[in-house]
Amino acid sequence: MGVINQNLCYFCGVQEESHQHLFFECSYSLAFIQAVSDWCKVGLPQIDCIKWWVDWRQSSMCRKKVVGVILACSMYVIWSARNTCRIEGYLHRPERLGQLVKKESISRLHNVEFKCNSSRVKQWLDDILH
Ligand SMILES: [Zn+2]
Repeated sequence: MGVINQNLCYFCGVQEESHQHLFFECSYSLAFIQAVSDWCKVGLPQIDCIKWWVDWRQSSMCRKKVVGVILACSMYVIWSARNTCRIEGYLHRPERLGQLVKKESISRLHNVEFKCNSSRVKQWLDDILH
């Protein structure tokens, strides 16, 4: 309809921007996801977010809540970075965005009381929050 005069990804400037490309395929987004995964020690989705989330049904409730917060923060940060790039014309390094997710996730998770039965999950939670 002529509303958008270019539809290239703002991150890489090479591929057409789509939901799938922006969140899961762009080299910039993959580097960002890797930075977050390195911190939280969880392989975050790199292909299909919904399928990945469904696969997490078997995980403990405590772990699902934590990963849900991290995933939500990650999606928000990548969308915000895309809009900042589009409007203001600059882009942080993917590692910087990973630090933003860590900071925001920890802030949100400190206000949550967890009932974890698994010592392994408790240790994981302690590791990522401190
Ligand atoms: Zn791209």
